[in-house]
Formats: sequence, C-alpha cells, structure tokens
Amino acid sequence: MDKRASRDVPYDLILAGGGLANGLIAWRLRARRPSLRLLLLEQGERIGGNHTWSFHEGDLDAAQRQWLAPLVSHRWPRHAVLFPGYARTLDSGYLSIASSDFARVVEPALGPALRLGVRIAELGPTSVRLADGETLQARAVIDGRGMQPSGRLALGCQTFLGQELRLAAPHGLDAPILMDASVAQQGGYRFVYVLPFDPHRVLIEDTHYVGASARDPERLRANIAAYAAARNWRIAEVLREEQGSLPIVLAGDFERYWADLAGQPCAGLRAGLFHSTTGYSLPHAVRLSERVAALSEFDAPALFAAIRAEAAQAWRRQRFFRLLNRMLFLAGSPDQRWRVMLRFYRLPAPLIAHFYAGSLSLGDKARLLSGKPPVPLRQALSAACKIHPRQIRRFE
Ligand SMILES: Cc1cc2nc3c(=O)[nH]c(=O)nc-3n(C[C@H](O)[C@H](O)[C@H](O)COP(=O)(O)OP(=O)(O)OC[C@H]3O[C@@H](n4cnc5c(N)ncnc54)[C@H](O)[C@@H]3O)c2cc1C
Repeated sequence: MDKRASRDVPYDLILAGGGLANGLIAWRLRARRPSLRLLLLEQGERIGGNHTWSFHEGDLDAAQRQWLAPLVSHRWPRHAVLFPGYARTLDSGYLSIASSDFARVVEPALGPALRLGVRIAELGPTSVRLADGETLQARAVIDGRGMQPSGRLALGCQTFLGQELRLAAPHGLDAPILMDASVAQQGGYRFVYVLPFDPHRVLIEDTHYVGASARDPERLRANIAAYAAARNWRIAEVLREEQGSLPIVLAGDFERYWADLAGQPCAGLRAGLFHSTTGYSLPHAVRLSERVAALSEFDAPALFAAIRAEAAQAWRRQRFFRLLNRMLFLAGSPDQRWRVMLRFYRLPAPLIAHFYAGSLSLGDKARLLSGKPPVPLRQALSAACKIHPRQIRRFE
C-alpha cells in the first residue's frame, strides 16, 4: 500500500450505506483485512434495515456458506411451489437471514468502524459529505445506498408486502412455499410466498410482477388476511411487516450505465448486482465481498475497475434471464403469465437450481426454450425483441 497516500487521509475505505452489500463487505474486510482503516455509515439506527434475505443453498459454494453461517437465521431442507392443478416439493435447501440477526452479528464486529444515524448528503469516489455538513475523506468510497433510478435500464417490478404473523394454532407447514400461484392473479403474475419460522410463526408475502411499482399496500394486507383465512389460519398477532419493490431487468445499456457512474465505486443493487428475474441480491453481495476482500489496492480506481468487472460478468451471464423477463412481462395476457412459471417448475430440479444460482448451461437454456411455449409464440417472439430496440441490439 502507498504509505504516503495512506497518511494523507483518515480512512482507507468508507462504505456509504449499511445495507446488505456494504454490510457484508465490511464484515468480510474486518475478518480478512483487519489493518484497513474502515468506516461504515448508515442513516438508520441499525444496519440492514427491516428485511428477510433468503437464498437457495445451491446459490453459494460450501466455503461461502461456511463463512456466512453465523448470519443464517433459518434453514429448511426442502421447499415447495403450488400452481393451479400442480404442486411440487423440491429437496434442496433454502435459507433465510433476518436483518436483526445480520445487525446482531455484524455491528459488534465493526465496533468503532460503524457510525449509525448519520445521513449522507453527497458523495464522490474519495469523499462523503454528511447532512450535518461534516466532510469525510478516504482513499475510496463505495456507494451502497440501494437502487438508484437510471434511464439506461428498462425495468419491470416485483412489488410485495410481507407480514410476519403469530398464528393462534400451528400452521402445519414443514417447508417454505416459494410460490403459491394458485391464487387469483389480479392483473399480473401474482403469488404468495410463505416462510414457516416455527409452528406458530410464519411470514406471508403477497407478491406481484407488474410493469409499474404501484400496488396499494392495503390491498396486499387484505390479500394476506384472505390467504391466511383460506388456509384456516387464525392470526393472533402481526409481529412485523416488510415491503419492497424489486427491479426486474428487461433490457439495458451496460456500458452507458457504468459510464454514468463516472468512476464511483458502488455495491449491491446500485452496482446492478442482483438476479435479473427475482431481484434477489444476496449471492451477488457475497461474491462481491469476497472479490473486494481479495484486492491488493484499495484506491477508488482499483475498486471501480474490480466492481465493474464483477458487474460485467453478471450482466453477460444474465442475458438469457432478461429475455425470459420480457416474455414474462410483455407476452400473453397478464392473468395467464403464471403459465410461464408453471412450465419452468415442471423442469428437472438441477435446471431449476441452476436458474436461481444464475448458472444456466447451454443445455439448460435449450431445454427452457424447447417444447410448446406457455404464451402465444408470436407474442413471445415479439416480446423478446421489444423495448428499447437500440439497447437490445447493441448489448443483449
Ligand atoms: C423487503 C425486502 C425483502 C427482500 N428479500 C430478499 C431476499 O429474500 N433475498 C435476496 O437476495 N434479496 C432480497 N431482497 C432484495 C435485495 O437483496 C435487497 O433489497 C438488499 O437489501 C439490497 O442490498 P443493497 O446493499 O443494495 O441495499 P440495502 O440493503 O437496501 O442497503 C442500502 C442502505 O443504505 C442506507 N442509506 C440509503 N441512503 C442513505 C443515506 N443518504 N445516508 C445514509 N445511509 C443511507 C439505507 O438505510 C440502507 O441501510 C429484498 C428486498 C426487500 C426490500
């Protein structure tokens, strides 16, 4: 490390925003590079916000699962999906991290390298200005403040509201239901997601794949109440609520998106590091934290180049997912889009695992596209070519 540059500024690295991606980077750096002068800034009273972050066991390798293990709140050996006239249980593990457990483990590991309750007003590759006027300098700043709007991406949206409930009697589930799409579709692809934490405690999320993010939260709460009632689950207490609108990428202009960042290192959703079809980012955040911890240089250009390389790889690997998304969002009647996912869940279990892990082989892709399409062929083809044709021609 350049000793003179090190002496000139008080921090080697400032992580702006204490969410999933920056929290993991900080935790990993504390373990692997303890001599780095690190600072994590978060506006909330705790890091991680109010989330349940779930992932498939196969999304990560054994070594990654091992270092992540202290954060894991729940693990189930199998999970299920339900569609009209079809149910399937998959014998592959599913895990969840509650943001409360994330904060409980990561915050003490950071100690004085963490500042909570500080709002960032502005930042650049080597400095951060706080809302109270204080300016902090570092050799590099990683912006992990969540998704930012960009005209370079054509997005759909997965909007959802979840309630963690205590039920009056045991629910009887022994595995999560990742998609219960047997419910009324309400004008887009809709499913209910259920995580049974203990015999009485369950998270129920009402999820909609829609073109725009607006969904009335009251309607989603009513959907959850109706879903519980239909299963004869009497709600004793609503323990917690979480909601989100996750980006689903239909197409985009990668080069210009990164040119717009103008050398600013980013992490998490802001770096485009999420699954294009599910909006989930945990496996990407794990991989990025490993890449950052392995760097030999921590100045802003080195970090920007490394993170951009990670994002470029993820972008290339997800080209096929963007095509599927266009079919899911743009082809067929909205109330029939569940058929795309039904067909998907009838495929062999290894292919489903590869899909979630973002590692489809050529054979997997051929299998996904073979046979009778679940939406009308002509519409599927025109959907595959629709949206920002210039972007698609140049970058897909
Ligand atoms: C309710 C919900 C559930 C989800 N479930 C899953 C899941 O099961 N699995 C999965 O992989 N993904 C899930 N996701 C998607 C995605 O992985 C998460 O959104 C993830 O938290 C994104 O990570 P991030 O680090 O990019 O941003 P965030 O985790 O959102 O972190 C951004 C942080 O920056 C802070 N911040 C923002 N602005 C400022 C500012 N001006 N000053 C200071 N701090 C600031 C915020 O307070 C926040 O803590 C979920 C998302 C939501 C909303």
